[in-house]
Amino acid sequence: GDDLASCDPEIAGAIGKELGRQQQEIELIASENIVSRAVLEAQGSVMTNKYAEGYPGRRYYGGCQYVDIAEELAIDRAKELFGCGFANVQPNSGSQANQAVMLALAKPGDTILGMSLDAGGHLTHGARPNMSGKWFNAVQYGLDLDTGLIDYDQVAALAEEHKPRLIIAGGSAYSRVIDFARFRKIADAVGAHLWVDMAHFAGLVAAGVHPSPFPHAHVATTTTHKTLRGPRGGMVLTNDEDIAKKINSAVFPGLQGGPLMHVIAAKAVAFGEALQPEFKSYMNAVAENAKVLAQTVIEGGMEIVSGGTDTHLMLVDLRPKGVTGKAAETALGRAFITCNKNGVPNDPQKPAITSGIRLGTPAATTRGFGPAEFREVGRLIVRVVDGLAQAGDEGDTSGIEDAVKAEVVELTRRFPIYPHLN
Ligand code: PLP
Repeated sequence: GDDLASCDPEIAGAIGKELGRQQQEIELIASENIVSRAVLEAQGSVMTNKYAEGYPGRRYYGGCQYVDIAEELAIDRAKELFGCGFANVQPNSGSQANQAVMLALAKPGDTILGMSLDAGGHLTHGARPNMSGKWFNAVQYGLDLDTGLIDYDQVAALAEEHKPRLIIAGGSAYSRVIDFARFRKIADAVGAHLWVDMAHFAGLVAAGVHPSPFPHAHVATTTTHKTLRGPRGGMVLTNDEDIAKKINSAVFPGLQGGPLMHVIAAKAVAFGEALQPEFKSYMNAVAENAKVLAQTVIEGGMEIVSGGTDTHLMLVDLRPKGVTGKAAETALGRAFITCNKNGVPNDPQKPAITSGIRLGTPAATTRGFGPAEFREVGRLIVRVVDGLAQAGDEGDTSGIEDAVKAEVVELTRRFPIYPHLN
């Protein structure tokens, strides 16, 4: 046959194993989700064959009449979701959406002001090893170490001192609502553009569970695969016509060639889903579940940076248990609970070790977990971490992890995903 399993059993085997992993494990990586069958189908479609450089109605290739339908729907639905006048849905990733903003609104050597990586910012916000940190004069702000909240006074002081062209708000491990109005005031005071990267919490914004970056932001970027529950990809939004033109030129021909039309079709499907009333209930459940999970791990003796969460994620500080992020990530992985180690503010450990883990509720909420299940998940995490704490460096914790894994498999069996792929 010419099907994948016959043509390429090695890849088919890896995909099958990945399906099994997703079905059996509890996914707590805050940046991941479980897309619908409809999104998978659009992404796995013949639109992958089509070259469509340019934009709907003005392409550099023939035969674009049907991919144009997909891109126009994606754009219209994105604008409706976020209540804004312009969307570019072509960026292949969140990082490329961010590069487009920098290419459109700054020049190499210009100053940009973003949240530092160790405070929860993203690499593309001016971190040293990233292009944003190499080609720009990147100044970084952090958190108020007493509260775990963004230090807005520091942002204002750094803006005043360095006069950045761009100020970036948004991060990858920040669990609290961001004060966009305050950021805009700071930006206006120094003539900077305010750029909100809502990659993590875009789904919450779309559902009205988190304040919108608009009207405060000059420009906003997002990924489409996190809380928004679409295919992997990026997007740029604005209400400013001049910025919109610059963004279109920056994405193509500035950065990318042919857009991934199958992904854009899948983005349109996901945005259509996010416009439905069920998505609001879903995002409310994600936020409620995050509060339950945070409360449970606090009751289990760990700390949460900033004391809690307003969003879909939390940063757990493991220092009260004397356990590292790396050890916890690995042990939880053995118990079929997937998360990532993450530095905490002022982390004494190296970035490859860390003192924390980041937990998020979007994926498990999609499969149907509610507060009762998340309380159970929190207790399982506490058992694994306590096992590590009691065993010390050399102790064997496999007994606890095996017992937790059996409970995880039982729990995920009750909330199946992708039964049509079995
Ligand atoms: N911006 C933020 C805030 C993110 O958290 C991420 C991804 O983790 C990105 C941008 C980059 O997205 P991608 O991984 O699609 O390049």
